[in-house]
Amino acid sequence: MTLTEPFERVADISDQATRIELSHVENLLAQNKKAMDVIIPDNFDGCCTECGREIPKERLEAIRTTLCAPCKNAGEIRSRQYR
Ligand SMILES: [Zn+2]
Repeated sequence: MTLTEPFERVADISDQATRIELSHVENLLAQNKKAMDVIIPDNFDGCCTECGREIPKERLEAIRTTLCAPCKNAGEIRSRQYR
């Protein structure tokens, strides 16, 4: 047995794990794609389109949204109820 053998085996296993993780991530991305596909209007001024409150810059940078967190959550609850 050579020294590299155990390392190769470990590499094999972690490669498999990475592949599983990647397909899992791809699934998640596909699921989130719709949610991410928010159309930001040209005249969007950074204020919530529902209540007009200013949306924190960090939130706008983290996700594409035209809604503040409370309105987004309310919308999600609404759409869940109507489904
Ligand atoms: Zn709002």
